[in-house]
Amino acid sequence: MRKIISLMLCMALALCCIVPAVAENAAMQPGTYEAEAQGFGGKVQVAVTVSESEITDIAITGELETPALGGVAIETMGDAIVKAQTPHVDGVSGATVTSAAIIAAASEALEAAGANLEAMDANRKDTAEDVVREEKTLDTDIVIIGAGGAGMAAAIMAQQAGQQFVILEKMPYVGGNTTKATGGMNAAETHYQKEQGIEDSVALFAADTMKGGHDINDPALVETLASKSAEAIDWLDTIGAELPKISFSGGASTNRIHAPADGSAVGNFLVDKFSAKLKELGVDIMLNTKATQLIMQDGKVAGVKAEGADANYTINCKAVILATGGFGANLDMIASFRPDLQGTVTTNAPGATGDGIVMAQEVGAALVDIEQIQLHPTVEQTTSMLITESVRGDGAILVNQGGKRFTNELLTRDAVSAAELEQEGCYAYIIFDQHLRDNLKAIEKYVTNGLTKQADTIEGLAEQLNIDPATLAQTLADWNEAVKNKNDTAFGRTTGMENDLSTAPYYAIQVAPGIHHTMGGVKINTAAEVISTEGEVIPGLFAAGEVTGGVHGGNRLGGNAVADIVIFGRIAAQSAIDYCAK
Ligand code: ADP
Repeated sequence: MRKIISLMLCMALALCCIVPAVAENAAMQPGTYEAEAQGFGGKVQVAVTVSESEITDIAITGELETPALGGVAIETMGDAIVKAQTPHVDGVSGATVTSAAIIAAASEALEAAGANLEAMDANRKDTAEDVVREEKTLDTDIVIIGAGGAGMAAAIMAQQAGQQFVILEKMPYVGGNTTKATGGMNAAETHYQKEQGIEDSVALFAADTMKGGHDINDPALVETLASKSAEAIDWLDTIGAELPKISFSGGASTNRIHAPADGSAVGNFLVDKFSAKLKELGVDIMLNTKATQLIMQDGKVAGVKAEGADANYTINCKAVILATGGFGANLDMIASFRPDLQGTVTTNAPGATGDGIVMAQEVGAALVDIEQIQLHPTVEQTTSMLITESVRGDGAILVNQGGKRFTNELLTRDAVSAAELEQEGCYAYIIFDQHLRDNLKAIEKYVTNGLTKQADTIEGLAEQLNIDPATLAQTLADWNEAVKNKNDTAFGRTTGMENDLSTAPYYAIQVAPGIHHTMGGVKINTAAEVISTEGEVIPGLFAAGEVTGGVHGGNRLGGNAVADIVIFGRIAAQSAIDYCAK
């Protein structure tokens, strides 16, 4: 982490004006000093107040930073700098650019005040010897570990039931991988489907999910997912998280994926709604608090050990809900289960490190389908930024370094990823035109982040990509003909063919597969109880969401991650509540 931050720091430093070096050991000139540096969305401003010998206060602003990530750095790093008495503090994972900008601007302001940054680093005040870690003991009924979608859904249920619980989140912000969900939530026989005249059934939803998962899913979990989906949609209505916009998603036999009314990304929408509800209900999420171990007594779960920013916790409880998400950001763990994926980039949130899987295994939990890891075929490799499926859905094609198409671009994620990995260099270029850019808001983010190559002609684009211009021009001409005739003789594509690619300028982004979702995990039954390697329920241990395995089998359908989180998050909460009442 420090390494990334220092790299970003160099970049950010280059963007703020250079101030003259100051003499060593010079006392600071008391006052408030301002500086700014380039953040992720815009400039980040820092005002540092110093006495002769101390940093006494920092005010940080940066209106254009993403609230959920950069906003957290803005909120928390000032305190960290004052505490450490040096600007060189750890940044916020997931908000590296904003963090680096804050460090750069604070450094500049301090240098202007006459500070000696090297001396500050040498005398930093937040080293292990200076921080007195308290040992705290808490008593409660349920500990929910993880404040992503599953954990927050469980917390809302628990609070509404009047149950005593605490919820731990190791990051300084909530949301986890749930914030990355862009599509929607699959659900069958919902009131929204009925109102919109869409015919669907629980049996069809279950059958589609089994088929999509190559039939290795746990049929009982799939049946539960499908049969409880409509009531989960009703429950979301009751907490103001309505998902009325229904459309079609890959692998479904009918329109089943439910999204927010304005079509915005479902993950951030639900995380915002869940957080707001928890706030309204008066629930405090213990942020920056990492669960490290489950405590067992007489074969039952009896508590959790956790590390907070300033304290170590022993939390005695009757039940634990693991909602720690997957392990898509733990590249060592990925490589241990799937050596073939060594070195693959990940689209995952930094907290997805598989902690829940490790903790559950330590108390004897069985794992299921752990090697089933979903790749997303269009990930820009230098930034790990996911190029949304909508780009292909709206008409983009994939070409290899030879300038030729090599697959139906809208096959399932695993099939398109496999096809890419067979190409020279294991990558592809996603090609689109100005018309597509004009009609898909997501593209702007790729352009502003410098991911796109652009040219006024296809030949010009080919030259930039080191592709033979005539070959790429022929590929585009063939594709546009296929769109006109609605007949892709080359690869049998039938969707995303409403518009051809003929409006200059033309664009390309180099993409390759990236780790997207870990489908396997801790074994649970339909009551979200964790099952041991002996096939027995582990008393008091429940799990929900991406930490579990069995729901998705060998391939997760788009829309089923959110269904999993909400449905099994609720089930885990109810089961834990019932268990505590015994
Ligand atoms: P799901 O989709 O299953 O809810 P998410 O990835 O959205 O999973 O959320 C999981 C959350 O759990 C993340 O916010 C992550 O930071 C958090 N988390 C992971 N491990 C721990 C841990 N050891 N202690 C506390 N929180 C954790």
